[in-house]
Amino acid sequence: MEFKLPQLPYSKDALTGFLSPESFEFHYEKHHKTYIDNLNKFIAAGTAKGTTLEDIMMNSSGPVFNNAAQTWNHTFYWFSLAPESKKGTPDGALTDAINKKYSSVDGMFTKLAEVGTGVFGSGWVWLVQTSTGELDIVGTSNAEIPMKQGLKPLLTFDVWEHAYYIDYRNRRADFLKTATKHTNWNFVNENFKSSKSANLTPFMS
Ligand code: MN
Repeated sequence: MEFKLPQLPYSKDALTGFLSPESFEFHYEKHHKTYIDNLNKFIAAGTAKGTTLEDIMMNSSGPVFNNAAQTWNHTFYWFSLAPESKKGTPDGALTDAINKKYSSVDGMFTKLAEVGTGVFGSGWVWLVQTSTGELDIVGTSNAEIPMKQGLKPLLTFDVWEHAYYIDYRNRRADFLKTATKHTNWNFVNENFKSSKSANLTPFMS
């Protein structure tokens, strides 16, 4: 078994104004690919065990977990983004859940940007659904994933410095504010409707 870089659902210049093609050349073609290459080395060496990426990620720790989770997290992140013309809108049930918890989509994004800006060091910010169906926003450190806390991810933005330094230098808050305008609502709707966390293995096999 070997994993490969997923195909981006848009071209490298499709998010210009938010992320430059150069940022994809580093973040997607180098950073993401390196996590996948490292994971494949662990698989070849017999130290990464499981039949899917999700299996490996949920049942590992240390370097195997870090590389498997970063492989998964980045694919989930690329899928969380869309060009403005293709981002869609939150469907009725999701809109109701957002309004109930955050008053409005803008309110949800304000909270998400606040939590993302507050992640100390490297990590991720996530819109998630708890086991009771309620929405929540959580920050995670390094490669950590919400699924290990029983949370189903709906949307993520990468807040490692490598995610924004090319286009925003140190301005993480500006990066997050712009990211919210490129949310792929079609992907968020799909995750919201699903009974379990996204299965990304087919996109990288
Ligand atoms: Mn990254």
